[in-house]
Amino acid sequence: MPEVVICGAGIAGVSAAYFLSQAGVEDILLVDERPPLSLTSDRSTECYRNWWPDPDMLALMNRSIDLMEALAEESGNAFHMNRRGYLYVTAQKDKIPALTERAERTSRLGAGPLRVHAAGASSYRPSPPEGFREQPTGADLLLDPALIREHFPYLTERAVAALHVRRAGWLSAQQLGRYLLERARARGVRFVSARVEGVEVAGGRVRSVRLKDGETLPASVFVNAAGPFLRQVGAMLGVDLPVYTELHLKVAFKDLQGVVGREAPLLIWDDPQHLPWDEEERRFLAADPETRWLTEPFPAGAHTRPEGGPDSPIVLMLWEYRTQVMEPLWPPPLDEAYPEVVLRGLSTMLPGLRAYFGRAPRPEMDGGYYTRTRENRPLIGPLPVEGAYVIGALSGFGIMSACAAGELLAAHVTGGDLPSYAPAFLLSRYDDPDYRKRLETWDESGQL
Ligand SMILES: Cc1cc2nc3c(=O)[nH]c(=O)nc-3n(C[C@H](O)[C@H](O)[C@H](O)COP(=O)(O)OP(=O)(O)OC[C@H]3O[C@@H](n4cnc5c(N)ncnc54)[C@H](O)[C@@H]3O)c2cc1C
Repeated sequence: MPEVVICGAGIAGVSAAYFLSQAGVEDILLVDERPPLSLTSDRSTECYRNWWPDPDMLALMNRSIDLMEALAEESGNAFHMNRRGYLYVTAQKDKIPALTERAERTSRLGAGPLRVHAAGASSYRPSPPEGFREQPTGADLLLDPALIREHFPYLTERAVAALHVRRAGWLSAQQLGRYLLERARARGVRFVSARVEGVEVAGGRVRSVRLKDGETLPASVFVNAAGPFLRQVGAMLGVDLPVYTELHLKVAFKDLQGVVGREAPLLIWDDPQHLPWDEEERRFLAADPETRWLTEPFPAGAHTRPEGGPDSPIVLMLWEYRTQVMEPLWPPPLDEAYPEVVLRGLSTMLPGLRAYFGRAPRPEMDGGYYTRTRENRPLIGPLPVEGAYVIGALSGFGIMSACAAGELLAAHVTGGDLPSYAPAFLLSRYDDPDYRKRLETWDESGQL
């Protein structure tokens, strides 16, 4: 009889299975109607960072990166973890004091030291393209445009400051997930391909799990790791989870002219902007109410990174210029305007991309959902039904947080020691009226 049934074999469910098996739980069944790691966990940009404005999120990410580094060590870096960092770039001189102040605050929260590099001789040390060992933590704030150009020659000459976050980079989410899954299977975790249709609760506790084919699995512990379907699976327990889903798209683009440096970090344009159009295009777009939005202000946050080895021409491009909250339809609806808008937006930071205007190679677009709470903290821990747990609402940080989230879930299930950040991610935090009050003015989600 399975003791633990985990609904969902995305990175969250797989990590939960891995850490539960590590903690000595023997009878674990992962149930998913799709192949493991094939839904949201197959759509991410695969980046990680410890640089978060929320101290509990920062602590969760630091722990997750510790765990990923240990797994990378033991596996010979099976999931290609690098340490290239995130580079936030601005062309607005007047933003530098606020940028510095925010960076100092995040540094003080535990992200590592902030090193400021003004004009003149600099001790700035660039990131290696591969590997993760012996790298600085914290961030380097580059305030000398010449230094920025020296290390990132593809950036616009207008760049006046760049914040290089160092405990950050990317990895292969599929390979990380596969590694955790293989290790969990070696410890006896089983996978069942089926849809969970119901959870039987009697006497206030979980008794069994009902599958689509009518089979019933006895279970004393049920873990909801259903990703974008977290709310639907929560309803099977009679628990209304306060989460919603946002559509997020991504473009894979063939940068055949090599505009984005193949050794670049994740590049983020930190300024709001207007898309670059020529005068005639601008007039034409502004005249039509359907296209006028393309001439209006766009938010900060367009970002890109190279994907694949030195010979790959692929770059990934993303920009959440308008938030779309919707029910999770699969496959997600794609927006034909998205690749052109992202390309134009990124050309503000990377002027070489203008060479592709009107003649861009056909981009590949896909997308998925950020399943999130109001304040963008995850849900990890027990539910009001005895034996029921949740690991989800991993929003746009599910790959980077998966290891610490799985470890935390396992500690809740097995009664292990809980880390300082555990209370911040409990569903029961919403029972506290003070916390609910804080939510009304919670404006920094930390999300890209
Ligand atoms: C465009 C994009 C970019 C992103 N970039 C990053 C990034 O750079 N870094 C980062 O850390 N994160 C990133 N993310 C977020 C990350 O991908 C997600 O947080 C993470 O994959 C969520 O994992 P999950 O296991 O919770 O969900 P999923 O991977 O969706 O897994 C949930 C599983 O539950 C199964 N399931 C649901 N209901 C049932 C049921 N009733 N019965 C059986 N099975 C069920 C589903 O079939 C699915 O396999 C990005 C996401 C998107 C969309």
